[in-house]
Amino acid sequence: MNNSPTVLEIDTSAIIHNLHFFKSRIQEKTKLIVVIKAFAYGSDLIAIGQILEQQKIDYLAVAYTEEGVSLRKANINLPILVLHPQVENFETIIKNNLEPNLYNFRTLNHFTRIANSKKLKNYPVHIKVDTGMNRLGFKENEIIQLQKFLQNLTSLKVISFYSHFAASEDKNEKEFTKQQIISFNKICNSLNKSLDYKPLKHIANTSGIINYPEAQFDMVRLGIGFYGFGNDKTITAKLKNVCNLKTKISQIQFLKKGETVGYNRKFKVEKKSKIGILPIGYADGLNRNLGNNVGSVYIKNQKAPIIGIICMDITMIDITGIDCEEGDEVIIFNCQNHVLELAKKTTTISYEILTSISQRVRRVII
Ligand SMILES: *Cc1c(COP(=O)(O)O)cnc(C)c1O
Repeated sequence: MNNSPTVLEIDTSAIIHNLHFFKSRIQEKTKLIVVIKAFAYGSDLIAIGQILEQQKIDYLAVAYTEEGVSLRKANINLPILVLHPQVENFETIIKNNLEPNLYNFRTLNHFTRIANSKKLKNYPVHIKVDTGMNRLGFKENEIIQLQKFLQNLTSLKVISFYSHFAASEDKNEKEFTKQQIISFNKICNSLNKSLDYKPLKHIANTSGIINYPEAQFDMVRLGIGFYGFGNDKTITAKLKNVCNLKTKISQIQFLKKGETVGYNRKFKVEKKSKIGILPIGYADGLNRNLGNNVGSVYIKNQKAPIIGIICMDITMIDITGIDCEEGDEVIIFNCQNHVLELAKKTTTISYEILTSISQRVRRVII
């Protein structure tokens, strides 16, 4: 059993809080997908899936087929949208009752062929259209051909038409985002003409939900907000931090002036110092660029800089002047501000800090 002192705590009450916050921000009729790709943004795929099933949300979304298979193996029965499936996975998708996003004629043709050969009727699929992100999705000039394809297609049932915002968090891109909404409406209207039923429509991610409530349509896809990060400080302040990364001091070293710490002797002791050795390294997801005084951790609410080079499994911190002992708890992050600070210092975003926590780190659900 893994009982390493380095843990990623997942706070169930924060999850429930964030879920309620977003439910209060979406219209009554609007359904909710919670996006739990990449191990539920680095937390715990199965634990989060189970909580969401209990909370009776409408849909789960994952990026890859295997993530959906893991959820099914854990007996999670909610509908699961696979955002980025590959043709190689289509048999597995069907076997596990997962719902693929079909994003171009290659995937649509391939999936239809398999569905027909299995004599499936109304197999649930989702169709993605590109409205300006220029990533996945049918292009506007393919819509007429798509419309024809969908007519009288009985093996598949289109559960939803969806698209993705390119810059819903960026107030400077309001015009572009509004244009995406217009184009999405137009595309859905033409596609609906080919069907005798009306698929759901969705385009909004977290910042779309907040900044463009008029584009919540039939369903929204909540990701980062669920884990505690809004598109700005005001929203983030209303959310609770879900993931707390903690460890404990393995050893304390007392060093004198002139000694050095770690690989390549990168930290030079300037005055009598107290150094803490932590059982966490870059292989656990602590970015190596946080070494050499760039990043800090917290002990008893005091900031302790990371010194020297972060190793694969070990990090050294300067705890001079902090009243602490071997075995004491060290916080890598336990609030959104800590995560945002780590993101800023490594020129990335909260998403990457969270999803970088490696699978080696023990998850604890509290
Ligand atoms: C990841 C993802 C989301 C969630 O986005 P957030 O910004 O985390 O809310 C929604 N839709 C798609 C297609 C995604 O890939």
